[in-house]
Amino acid sequence: MSQFSGLKSLSPVWSRVTNIIAKEARGSWITDVNGRRFLDFTTGIAVCNTGHCHPRVVAAAQAQLSKIMHAQMNIVYSQSAIELAEKLPSIMPDPSLNRFFYTNSGAEAIEAAVKLAKQVTRRNNIICFENSFHGRTMGALSMTASKNVYSRGGGQIAGVHFARFPRCSSSCRIPKVDGQCCWDPIESVEEVLKTRSAPGDTAAILVEPIQGEGGYVIPPPGFFKKLREICDREGILLILDEVQSGMGRTGSWFAIEQLDHVRPDIMVVAKGIASGLPLSIVCANGENLMDKWIPGSHGGTYGGNAVSCAAAVETINVLREEKLLQNATARGKQAIQFMKDRKWADRFPVKDIRGLGLMVGVEFDPAFKGFASHVTTTALEKGLMLMTAGSKETIRLMPPLVVSESEMDQAMTIMDSSLNQVLSKTSKMAS
Ligand code: PLP
Repeated sequence: MSQFSGLKSLSPVWSRVTNIIAKEARGSWITDVNGRRFLDFTTGIAVCNTGHCHPRVVAAAQAQLSKIMHAQMNIVYSQSAIELAEKLPSIMPDPSLNRFFYTNSGAEAIEAAVKLAKQVTRRNNIICFENSFHGRTMGALSMTASKNVYSRGGGQIAGVHFARFPRCSSSCRIPKVDGQCCWDPIESVEEVLKTRSAPGDTAAILVEPIQGEGGYVIPPPGFFKKLREICDREGILLILDEVQSGMGRTGSWFAIEQLDHVRPDIMVVAKGIASGLPLSIVCANGENLMDKWIPGSHGGTYGGNAVSCAAAVETINVLREEKLLQNATARGKQAIQFMKDRKWADRFPVKDIRGLGLMVGVEFDPAFKGFASHVTTTALEKGLMLMTAGSKETIRLMPPLVVSESEMDQAMTIMDSSLNQVLSKTSKMAS
């Protein structure tokens, strides 16, 4: 490994999912420097939705590279940045989202969205949700509650208040009424407004349509409708964080389209937008919001990079023309059907199986501590890359949207045998 001596010079701050040194990747597969191939069900944390190195996206980025690499947004516009702005309205969940601010990462875009909300409303506070994840930079981590590791030893910004998020799965703490959500989470939002953050001080409610790092948790029908009503009643802005759930991952361009389809005031897009090149976008209405943003008060050196924008334009074309949203729906159903057919809930300590498109979560009984990460390690030995999510025992499946039926079958078969192996070891240890 001497040729990789640089490894020891890398900061240890990145928590490790694998120690693989990747040489190249195509579609659903990553090949390491030793020539070993892995079926990638992590997709760079839900980023390479068009698959690794989709030839059309690569060609678009290469073509742009030889024209202009960096056209700083304050100085000149790149043609690709404008072309992307022309294309984005066609995928927005609501026509009111008609102005776009480009930046680089999810966290940066979340902070920009919150800054916009605060400037326009002239209110300071933000309401977020337990187990949410919005990023690791100082502002974004202050609005994150999926794991305490992100804020350990660091400061947090003030004016952030957390309400409960609906977990209408078996892991909900509150008994269901007639199998329905008890709406305690909405009462919890009202409670925050009554006790900690007066409506007149609250700029925005920031929420993930489906909690990502929190464990792929899908709120019940009606939740976003109720949030929208509260926002309308109190003049609070609704910010949707579609960073992980967006760009076709759930089978629609954005998850909210399948969850009450309410109008967000601001929507944040990142990850899958440029198939792996850094780009994130704050989407909002021009007249009511974005045009009121004080000119010059926000920006950044790299936001709207010309190559990233060219990759994003082609990413949208590929997702649409190759019908990858439809594939996400079909392959997600296939994964859940496999788990049902193989009776995972009876054979393994499975607490909940849930998903929308290719955002599939499997939560295990918390009594089996470390079970989820043992399964991911075992699956990796068998050639399948998986990731856990959040502070609970959850594995999330987030393959690229190009994943084929046979690749899905292969992955699920590996997962099944990994679960068997880990469970038999766990039972031996317990006996
Ligand atoms: N919001 C959500 C829902 C995310 O899943 C993430 C990252 O995983 C972020 C924000 C932060 O994005 P980034 O890591 O690009 O800063």
